[in-house]
Amino acid sequence: MPDPDRISAADVLAWLRTYAGIIQREKEYLTALDSAIGDADHGINMDRGFQAALGKLDGLGEADIGTLLRTVGMTLVSTVGGAAGPLYGTFFLQLGGATAGRHEIGLADLLAALEAGLAGIVRLGKAEPGDKTMLDALLPARDALHGAVEAGLPVADAVARAAEAAEEGMRATVPLVARKGRASYLGERSAGHQDPGATSSYFLFRAAVEAWAAGRGEGGSAAGPGGSVSG
Ligand code: ADP
Ligand code: MG
Repeated sequence: MPDPDRISAADVLAWLRTYAGIIQREKEYLTALDSAIGDADHGINMDRGFQAALGKLDGLGEADIGTLLRTVGMTLVSTVGGAAGPLYGTFFLQLGGATAGRHEIGLADLLAALEAGLAGIVRLGKAEPGDKTMLDALLPARDALHGAVEAGLPVADAVARAAEAAEEGMRATVPLVARKGRASYLGERSAGHQDPGATSSYFLFRAAVEAWAAGRGEGGSAAGPGGSVSG
């Protein structure tokens, strides 16, 4: 029976597979968002990268968490162009570096990995909060996860809170004027549209909710009382 406070390699694999599924399902939506303020390729880029990553993950066997995440990062860097490929690639490479050799982690480890991933995105992209980028979903999620660690919440509840915060952050990108990436070329005209990268970043947390609340890894249900899969 899965531990409500631990995340296993099987859980991470389930998360990555769920995310790839969401990206595939939402490919047109992400691309439509990117067509409003970019070049209409975000869904295509992400789907290409994650389908390639799935192929690599299938061949890994009983890999540790760091290897799973680094494999995704390397695949994204090598198969996805544009801004998002290197940014998400770096994010996953950093997540993998922070969890190298681990077959199981706790929520505090997940938070530390997320911090490393965020630092990688900031180092590479130099974006700040409010620039209308993926960071505007990821940073609120990080803060919510930090709060959940302090409160000693189980994993399923913690990621549910993080997903809510990411979704709010994603919605809050609508009125923003883009200051980084392709959308910034539009200046004021970028306002009034939801950022595609913030949307795909919100999906990272929605995938964790779906993968970890309903039934962790191989085993049975670890969703606590009221384990909330937000819709
Ligand atoms: P491209 O803009 O090169 O076509 P994508 O369409 O795949 O790449 O990704 C666009 C997304 O990348 C944006 O919606 C934004 O969230 C994110 N992004 C762009 N530049 C940056 C940056 N400097 N820092 C963080 N995220 C960025
Ligand atoms: Mg684009």
